[in-house]
Amino acid sequence: MDNFNYIIAGGRVLDPASGLDAVMDIGICGDTVACMADSIDREDVRIDESTKIIDASGALVTPGLVDLHCHFFPDEYYGLPPEDTGVLSGCTTMVDGGSAGMLTYEYFSSQYMEKSPSKSYAFILHHPIGQFFQEENWKNVSVNADATADFIRRHPRIVGLKDKLTSDFAWYQGVEGVRRAVDIAHKSGKPYAVHLGTSTRLVAPDEKASESDVADAVRACTLELLATLRKGDIIFHAFTGKLGAIFTADGSYDEAVRAALKRGVLLDASVGRANFDIESYRLARQKGILPDLISSDLVQFGLTDVVFNLGTALSKFIDNGLTLSEVIHRATFMPAQAISLDDGTGRLRENGPADITISHLETGEFIFQDKMNGHTFSGPCLLRPKMCFVDGKPYETKHHGMSAPAAPR
Ligand SMILES: [Zn+2]
Repeated sequence: MDNFNYIIAGGRVLDPASGLDAVMDIGICGDTVACMADSIDREDVRIDESTKIIDASGALVTPGLVDLHCHFFPDEYYGLPPEDTGVLSGCTTMVDGGSAGMLTYEYFSSQYMEKSPSKSYAFILHHPIGQFFQEENWKNVSVNADATADFIRRHPRIVGLKDKLTSDFAWYQGVEGVRRAVDIAHKSGKPYAVHLGTSTRLVAPDEKASESDVADAVRACTLELLATLRKGDIIFHAFTGKLGAIFTADGSYDEAVRAALKRGVLLDASVGRANFDIESYRLARQKGILPDLISSDLVQFGLTDVVFNLGTALSKFIDNGLTLSEVIHRATFMPAQAISLDDGTGRLRENGPADITISHLETGEFIFQDKMNGHTFSGPCLLRPKMCFVDGKPYETKHHGMSAPAAPR
């Protein structure tokens, strides 16, 4: 019998997928959760002088947080070093939201994913280069659909195909581009994930395109998406307020959205700095629609502004439609399921991987920003990850979340 390397003692252990919410001790041996008990006897034969006891009293102990959409390809304009989106933010598993394309993935994978302390996966962008332009320039770009599907199939850490439904994509590739992307994902056997929300500005100016022409092209692509997305496909930035938004005051997409949700299309809030609109979210809530998944879309510029980390992104939803447990579920078990991780990721149980996040849950009245230059709204909790374990290896976090103090009650 191996000795415990660590005991996480006396924390509130919350694992929504197991229906577990209780004060417990967790014993870690190597890379595995060896014991979960109300209290591990300090005379237990598995405890010796090398066992480190971590006092988690008053803290929240959850399965390691899974960020389904962030950017950790630092050679690219938005990307952060993988440590920042991962262990330094308390995330034990993370998925890059399409920074690399088929032509840049091998480099991204060898230089960053394989060296990341957190477990890392990636969506690759439909655009072969990846996200190396502020918005991808789709003018005169063609995609080898069969080669892309084959490439995804051959790389197990690629979890799906990603598109950004920008004005540029809609104008140059249009509904044919949407159909091709869904088809590539289908052939690869992985989900298709799509970023909603764009401006009418084209990256490569095309004099023939008026603003209203571009807006029409975006709307046509949005409708095509809602009609063709399949079970398990993911809509990122589901509550964007930009052009391409699916929750609008006139309800013009309501029927198509309901049909897509009925088929099993997943909504990810992926809040980001510019793609979460509180009014759009309220419109969705009025219709009884809530996110299936909550990710951060953390990029370089988000570390100190609006987003901060996944913990702050999650806090925006606590008691704004979702309980703490429902929010944790959407950033642990649900994203692990969405990318078909069947190795125990997103749950806490004996003999499962020792991927664990320890957070402080502050209470008060916190004022959140939905997006840059947007609206503010309040919530009663702020989740601050303090420490995490990846396969039993401990890391202190550095990015503790929103710095604004709580407003007095
Ligand atoms: Zn993103």
